[in-house]
Amino acid sequence: MALIVQKYGGTSVAGLDQIRKVAERVAGVYGAGNGVVVVLSAMAGVTDQLIQLAQEITDHPHRRELDVLLATGEQTTVSLLCITLESMGYPARSLLGHQAEIVTDRTFGQARIVGIHAHRIKALLDQRKIVAVAGFQGRDTKGNITTLGRGGSDTSAVALAAALEADVCEIYTDVDGVYTTDPNLCKSARKLDRISYDEMLEMASLGAKVLQIRAVEFAKKFDVPVHVRSSFKEEEGTMVVEEETDMERVVVSGITYSKNEARITLTKVPDQPGVASKIFTPVAEAGIVVDMIIQNTRKGGLTDLTFTVPKSDYPTAMAIQKDVAETIGAEQVLGDEQIAKVSVIGVGMRSHSGVAAKMFTALANENINIVMISTSEIKISCVIQEKYTELAVRVLHSTFGLEDEKL
Ligand code: ADP
Ligand code: ASP
Ligand code: MG
Repeated sequence: MALIVQKYGGTSVAGLDQIRKVAERVAGVYGAGNGVVVVLSAMAGVTDQLIQLAQEITDHPHRRELDVLLATGEQTTVSLLCITLESMGYPARSLLGHQAEIVTDRTFGQARIVGIHAHRIKALLDQRKIVAVAGFQGRDTKGNITTLGRGGSDTSAVALAAALEADVCEIYTDVDGVYTTDPNLCKSARKLDRISYDEMLEMASLGAKVLQIRAVEFAKKFDVPVHVRSSFKEEEGTMVVEEETDMERVVVSGITYSKNEARITLTKVPDQPGVASKIFTPVAEAGIVVDMIIQNTRKGGLTDLTFTVPKSDYPTAMAIQKDVAETIGAEQVLGDEQIAKVSVIGVGMRSHSGVAAKMFTALANENINIVMISTSEIKISCVIQEKYTELAVRVLHSTFGLEDEKL
């Protein structure tokens, strides 16, 4: 008997018909003698609706109370699944995050799992119950309800699979697996049979929302085999696994994009020791994560400094920099929210040169201007104007020969 953790995303539990299909799938796996823990998201769109409801009251809802509200989305789906399974004659129990003892830190809205006391789930599995756990939520050490950030049910599932030492963690979603790029944006995207944890980490952190980044971190750390596959089809999807030697032969394995960042530039900044610290310390103190940073070369003792922040933090970061500019004597603070980051990812880049040049040439051929560039061992990212995102993704996808030849 295998122990299988299955996670179903919002579109897979969008209504009672879909929940019934999930129940049938779960029942099939359980009926074959396996232990099954099911992790569910809220119904598609529900988390957004709940956020909107709170924002109708105030722009800054109380963070603890917002988490209490958002956790209700997943409470609905686990109970509906268990009611369905019980009505079909299968023994099923739902557990909310705190009942499953998923313990997190106290960062409401973006909490990190610090431990799972899995004894209650194990006891239910020993009694041959199907256990349905509400995704995206946990509790802090004082018992407050916390949520894990958007897409957090992926992380709930992988963390539970690690704690229970499950044989596999299956992530059921609305696409057939992990593709070379977002299949909803690029029709010639190709499904990958396997992808390494490191490549998946880069893909997730650079915008491929098919898996939440923390889920991949957990999977890598605890060696959890993750199988991303379709809720609507039987075919195998993509296995996220430890890097294999032949993976290095593929130079580029994926293209991602993110429209979630905004750019801030300080012009004519006095080029003196301590200035960068004065610019970035208040940003860090406000809890804002800076992504790319570029400082130009000095001209007449002055320099320009540009960086990117998440779009949601842009108004706060702009307000901070207006004060900073005055203090340090910079000329202006300029901002741009209409940007996108496109990235080329592949473990093979470690041993191959020329990827950056090929990427820049492909963008230049389409007259797409590159505003910022950043690189790591296995990725190159360019910030471009947002309106060119789709074009850039498609061009890079074909430049690096990623198309599905069958199409
Ligand atoms: P769920 O609600 O099941 O968690 P998500 O919407 O969070 O699903 O993630 C699935 C979506 O991720 C897909 O519909 C697809 O548009 C998007 N996506 C982005 N990049 C990729 C990629 N490289 N491979 C597969 N899906 C991707
Ligand atoms: N319901 C949450 C969200 O929409 C968590 C998830 O679906 O993974 O972000
Ligand atoms: Mg998701």
